[in-house]
Amino acid sequence: MQKNKNVVELIDITLSFQHRNVLADLSVHFESGKVTALLGKSGSGKSTLLQLINGMIIPDRGKVKIFDTFFDYQQATKLRLQIGYVVQNVGLFPHLTISKNISLLGQISKQSAKSMNERTHFLMDTVGLSHDYLDKYPHQLSGGEQQRVGLCRALFLKPPLLLMDEPFASLDYSTRTGIYNYFKILQETEPCSVIIVTHQFDEAEILADNFVWLENGKIKAQGNKSDFSSIKTDYLAAL
Ligand code: ADP
Ligand code: MG
Repeated sequence: MQKNKNVVELIDITLSFQHRNVLADLSVHFESGKVTALLGKSGSGKSTLLQLINGMIIPDRGKVKIFDTFFDYQQATKLRLQIGYVVQNVGLFPHLTISKNISLLGQISKQSAKSMNERTHFLMDTVGLSHDYLDKYPHQLSGGEQQRVGLCRALFLKPPLLLMDEPFASLDYSTRTGIYNYFKILQETEPCSVIIVTHQFDEAEILADNFVWLENGKIKAQGNKSDFSSIKTDYLAAL
């Protein structure tokens, strides 16, 4: 069986909040196995688009296709186990240890303690987090370390699709560039399809194969690695 070229397809999506169109007749697809940067200034609809993909928001009109199947909202919880989600402010549980935070979805899917430990250790090693952190709590870690914990948690069940909403925006420049390397190592070790929201052009250039540029809920431009340079000047001027 031929694998579908696209991991996500949005078809003629229209969505309004309080009678205001946020997305209008939007059609866009995201390639399987690639990292796609979702670019655009604040308010352009990037986070809304991610939430449409994981079924947190249902469109007024149009269809969401994921893993080559129309999104089945009855099965949303189950489907979401196959969609990793990383958000800006991490969302780690403050009262849970790092090990419990990382293995949360393993516990929910009733994995054995042994396999959860192995997976937790593997992920922490891959993103360069010391095992000394296993029994610590989120507040005892730096922002960059917490963000890596968030990444480990999102990838725990090896989701074929990872959604990231400005995951590194709150980190300083040197911490961010360090995490880019871990992200790339993870992508080489366990490749998956990634959609990463960012408004930072350099981040998109470093991490992504493809880009989609949203403006006022519409696609302003999209392309692959070789097309980044063609939008750079316009993009930076528009921000
Ligand atoms: P971005 O992530 O690109 O900054 P969002 O997707 O968060 O943009 O928001 C797109 C637009 O939709 C904005 O104008 C925002 O104010 C509006 N919006 C987002 N969520 C809601 C909501 N729950 N209720 C009303 N308006 C919303
Ligand atoms: Mg947003």
